[in-house]
Amino acid sequence: MVVGAGPAGSAAALHLARAGVDVLLLEKGSFPRDKVCGDGLTPRGVQQLVRMGVDIDAPGWMRNRGMRWVCEGREVELDWPRLGSLPDFGLTRSRRDFDDLLADHARAAGARLHTQVKVTAPLTDRAGRITGVTATRGPDGEPVRYRAPLVVAADGASARTAVALGLERDARRPVAAAARRYYRSPARTNDPYLELWADLRCPRTGLDLPGYGWVFPLGDGRINVGLGATPQRRDRPVDLRAALERWLGRLPAEWGVREENADSPLRSAPLPTGMNRRPQYRRGLLLVGDSAGMVSPWSGEGIAQAMEAAEVAAETIALALARPSGPRRERALEQYPLEIRRRWGRYYRLGNLASDLVFARYGFRALLHPRVMASPPLLRALARLLTNVTAEPAHDGLDAVLHALLRLVPAPKR
Ligand SMILES: Cc1cc2nc3c(=O)[nH]c(=O)nc-3n(C[C@H](O)[C@H](O)[C@H](O)COP(=O)(O)OP(=O)(O)OC[C@H]3O[C@@H](n4cnc5c(N)ncnc54)[C@H](O)[C@@H]3O)c2cc1C
Repeated sequence: MVVGAGPAGSAAALHLARAGVDVLLLEKGSFPRDKVCGDGLTPRGVQQLVRMGVDIDAPGWMRNRGMRWVCEGREVELDWPRLGSLPDFGLTRSRRDFDDLLADHARAAGARLHTQVKVTAPLTDRAGRITGVTATRGPDGEPVRYRAPLVVAADGASARTAVALGLERDARRPVAAAARRYYRSPARTNDPYLELWADLRCPRTGLDLPGYGWVFPLGDGRINVGLGATPQRRDRPVDLRAALERWLGRLPAEWGVREENADSPLRSAPLPTGMNRRPQYRRGLLLVGDSAGMVSPWSGEGIAQAMEAAEVAAETIALALARPSGPRRERALEQYPLEIRRRWGRYYRLGNLASDLVFARYGFRALLHPRVMASPPLLRALARLLTNVTAEPAHDGLDAVLHALLRLVPAPKR
């Protein structure tokens, strides 16, 4: 059973169904529905879509060539690298379409999708192992129970299922927040780059905003404009809304980012970063995506991470179900957090450190120092580090340096 049909849940359900597992996907909303997001995918996200067989050549997808960083009047364009089998482009698509399409894809692969089912609590046996969930179904909130030998928690940042099973968030990791709004902007909607602004300020104090702003083209006449930041700067709360308003005033008038061109309300949501909920497997429950705090501490990106972890979780489950229930199956399930740690442990650990020591104090302006912006090799290294677009094994010298750097980082504890 999978709780939540965002990118994590739909990807998990799809991979499970493909592996021949009977899978039930429960979603409290009904599609199509909005999700507060920047709607941007890096090549790692594209790679996951391709692995799931999503037709990314169909209408509705907007490709991008890379990132454009803007800082104190200077700007640089960084094309996505050509690395091994990784795609050399990113994508954007509104989450209203994206999540609908992915859930439909999971259904087409054989998952049973039940929408308007709000999971309320886990059901457990005497040993505290999850055996299913209670939920309310439909507009009248009819109480229902579902049973399953294994449950994937993909219910997003609220992480209710995990919390109910005693998996608390690591309180030392701050939860970032981000806000976004859509605007009609014929001038920018077909921009071939994801644009990122590094020199934003906190309006009241004038200090560097501990985050960045984005303008992502959607190719349908609209752009997604927003900013994300850690919650505090020198012990004072960051006012996202005010920071956004101030920044919008700096955008060129011809882009049309004005009230009369707004296509949605301004909405914000938490960004649980840095693997802030562990272990990702306990007593029959696997955590995937935002419910495990898998948003990258480097960039605030979480869709690719959610889909990739979902594939790992699905593979682990399929292999575990091939064993009889009991200790041998349990050992197979315990491989999930180990594999997550192997793939991302050091990268997230270094990212958490960078977030605490650099982004939370000086924002991204510190990274985009004029010397860095004037140095293509440094910029390329920075771009790969921020987005984790590297090949394994190393494809070029830069990859080799980044892998060597990560090997120096002590592996995190379980
Ligand atoms: C403003 C903002 C901008 C962002 N921009 C980007 C970006 O550009 N690129 C990027 O990669 N990431 C971005 N992120 C992060 C990204 O949105 C998340 O990391 C991603 O959505 C995580 O996917 P998920 O499936 O784990 O969770 P979600 O997408 O939150 O999905 C959870 C699902 O579970 C359902 N659910 C919740 N509770 C229950 C329940 N009790 N019962 C049944 N169903 C339930 C929800 O309805 C939802 O469908 C952004 C986040 C924010 C807030």
